[in-house]
Order: sequence, then C-alpha cells, then structure tokens
Amino acid sequence: MAFSGRIIPVDVGMRNIATTIENGETKFYGAGINAIRRRYMEQKEDGKSQVPAEFWRPEDRKEVRRQARAVARVIVEKAVKDRAVIALGKPSRSYFEAQWNYAYWPVQSFVQHLRSRARALGVRVLNVPEAETSQTCSQCGSHGKRLGAVFVCYACQIALNSDMNAAKNIAKRAESMLNFGAF
Ligand SMILES: [Zn+2]
Repeated sequence: MAFSGRIIPVDVGMRNIATTIENGETKFYGAGINAIRRRYMEQKEDGKSQVPAEFWRPEDRKEVRRQARAVARVIVEKAVKDRAVIALGKPSRSYFEAQWNYAYWPVQSFVQHLRSRARALGVRVLNVPEAETSQTCSQCGSHGKRLGAVFVCYACQIALNSDMNAAKNIAKRAESMLNFGAF
C-alpha cells in the first residue's frame, strides 16, 4: 500500500542546524546558533575552523543547547499538527566520526532533542541514510556538485540552495522507504 501521509524531511548541518520542508515550504533553522558559533571560529591555514566546545564560555554552550531544543520543539510540534512523519537525514558514519565531538556537537544536541521530543509526543522519526543526498539533483536525479551553500546541477543547468536540495532528496528517499517498507 502506498504511503499517503505527510513527511517533514530534516537535513541537519552546520550552516543551518535544520533545513525542513513543511507543506511545500522550505525552512532554515539555527540563525541564533550560528551567531554564537561565529564567535568561536578561528582562521587556520586551510580555512576557518571552530574552537573546541570545552573552550567555550559555559553560558554560550548552554544557549546553543537551549536553541537546539527550541528548534527541535518547533519541528516536532509541526509534525504533531500535520500528523507527519519526520524523515531525519542521517549523516554517514565517517562524517560522524570526523566531526562528532568537535564542531558538530550543536547538531548532536539538536538530534537528541528532536528524538526525545518526538518520542514523548508519539511522532515517528524515520532515519534516512544521507549518502549522496547532497550530491544528487532533487529535480532530475543527476549527480551534481555541492559548492558550499550552493548545489549545481549541470544537467538542469541550475543552482539550488544546497540544504534545500538535500532536504528534498531526503523526502524522496523517505517516501520510497515508506512505500516499500524497507525500514
Ligand atoms: Zn538536475
């Protein structure tokens, strides 16, 4: 039987802690978190890099966690209202291992809050493998290129917001997972 319910795809990342598509509308979350993170960026030879969390002011860490929790609540409440499944893009293991305890901790905090809030309110969270969702064109399915905030598809000759493109691919993948029962 085909899945006919609603899906809220969630792409997690550093630029936007969460990018979702809610009733066709793309939403970018986490501007407040980025404002705090920017205070802890330092210039390195190979570009910018984030100061490890243990060197942050405790009140800044606390504020990032508070905001991550607030974003998680908003998304879960939307899912309750729309009776939607949350499709959470799950970064590959190698990515986790490289980033997890370092610059990626605000995302970890967000994901934990999202899961526990969803569990508390009976919202289903589907884990969607994220591999290739950032390199695939959400319009034609071709392999394209992610250049930071922009995704470029040479087949369509278009440039899209890269987080929105990934969120659309997560939604498509979730839909086929739900249709084929492969979860
Ligand atoms: Zn394309």
